[in-house]
Amino acid sequence: MNSLKLISINIAIPFFIFMVFALSAFYSDKLPSFLFFISPYLFYMLSIIILWISWHFNRNKFIFIVAPLVLIYIGFEILSPSMATKLFHYSCIIYPIHLLIFLVLKERGLFSIWGVFKVIFVAFEIGLVLLLLYYPNEVVQNLLNLKIFNASFYPLKDISIAVFLFVLFIMSALVLFNRYLIYNGTFLIILIAYISGFYFLKTPYFMDMAFLAIDMIVLTLLIRETYRLAFYDELTSMPGRRALIEDMAKLGRKYSLAMVDIDHFKKFNDTYGHDTGDEVLKMVASKLLNVSGGGKAYRYGGEEFTILFPAKEINECFGHVDILRQNIETSGFVVRNKKKSKIIYINISAGLVQNSSKDKDPFAVMKRADNALYKAKELGRNKVIKA
Ligand code: GH3
Ligand code: MG
Ligand code: MG
Repeated sequence: MNSLKLISINIAIPFFIFMVFALSAFYSDKLPSFLFFISPYLFYMLSIIILWISWHFNRNKFIFIVAPLVLIYIGFEILSPSMATKLFHYSCIIYPIHLLIFLVLKERGLFSIWGVFKVIFVAFEIGLVLLLLYYPNEVVQNLLNLKIFNASFYPLKDISIAVFLFVLFIMSALVLFNRYLIYNGTFLIILIAYISGFYFLKTPYFMDMAFLAIDMIVLTLLIRETYRLAFYDELTSMPGRRALIEDMAKLGRKYSLAMVDIDHFKKFNDTYGHDTGDEVLKMVASKLLNVSGGGKAYRYGGEEFTILFPAKEINECFGHVDILRQNIETSGFVVRNKKKSKIIYINISAGLVQNSSKDKDPFAVMKRADNALYKAKELGRNKVIKA
């Protein structure tokens, strides 16, 4: 289960955006009216920007979230009131399911089999809505009008509420238990923003604001995703070398730095296979991420890691790095092959340094840490050596 802290961090940004837009609709009489005058144009502009960026960076998920939204919005603008009411009805059922499907489906190229399948699926959805709009079917109509929910506070009493609750339930479960929190959290808020757009239909501008909020939420997700791609390592989810270089530039006058390397990892890979090697890397990374003493760990590359200790003296850090070494040394790793499973152990070596006035930049400090690491290897590995 994901920690409550992690969940709140990931939900905070989309939730905050949604609240800002929702409140501006509630207090629309106190805000300049031109804000609401331009909001439809803003919605179209933002949507085009999102579609363009997503297309450019191969983030098709976002195309499939925003494009249907734009179609629904256009529908509301051009259809007659009675048709728009029907569209409102259908989209309340289809869009939440659509959101859930595209949250769960993996990101694939638009021209791959899955990509084509997704396009066909969306075309089917659009076709279905158009068919129902222009050739109403009595059986379907009766089914949709079935009142399964009766509460004075909610305008929808049909299956759309059941659909919403179902999708809400699944998404909440994903937020609690699945590790892709950034997506699950954001999609959950998008769902809530979408449904509340219809719930507060009678509040002036609320739907415009809800749709705008969804665009803003998607745009920030795109930006956060780009940031994550640039600064975080895919395999271990820890900050990568680019993040390390950024953070090294921000270090103060005093700091310590450790270079860490897994011992005999090549042999490990050769014996147990690259995939098991990857699992071990993840295990080591998770230990490094929890380093005590104010340290922050990065994947430098391959099976090498760097730990920064801002504002710390070398002697304050030594114990923390050594605890890490012991912790990894004693953590068994279960390897399963050919029905037999066995527990194996691995170790790390580390070189630890503190910066001095003689170092011309943080890279010189790193070089000295590397030399200390080399010494730890020479002295028989599974050691932390101070430079
Ligand atoms: P030493 O104790 O001297 O560090 O020996 P070593 O075998 O660990 O040293 P070396 O640097 O020669 O080998 C590093 C190996 O790490 C080579 C490569 O097979 C493995 N490696 C690097 N990146 C990855 C990765 O992402 N996944 C896996 N499974 N292995 C990796
Ligand atoms: Mg190495
Ligand atoms: Mg090594």
